[in-house]
Amino acid sequence: MSALSSEQKRLCSQISANTRWAHHDPREELKPAHDGWRQRFVDEVDPNRELPEAERERRATSAMRAYMARLALQSSKARARKREDRATTHGTRSAYTAGCRCEPCRSANAAYMRGRKAALP
Ligand SMILES: [Zn+2]
Repeated sequence: MSALSSEQKRLCSQISANTRWAHHDPREELKPAHDGWRQRFVDEVDPNRELPEAERERRATSAMRAYMARLALQSSKARARKREDRATTHGTRSAYTAGCRCEPCRSANAAYMRGRKAALP
């Protein structure tokens, strides 16, 4: 049996998650995990529980949003690095499809597209 590709692993996870949520209420099942996740930010902004609850909740929400934004920034930087790594040979269609938009890569893509159009009946 061959190993699953990352795409196949992703689909397997999707199948099992959706099968599970088809039979159970995710809000109920995930509540302990969500509460724990939320608690971490509450602890961060008010470890000694000195703030009024509304203010503690407001700050915890902001801390959580900042955390998620940091993750998104890291992810964006990692994707940009990956794109750059793949686009090493400029002036090729493969560099263009990997995300490079420098002039030689755009020209290579334009030439490829002209060739495809010309091949159409
Ligand atoms: Zn390029």
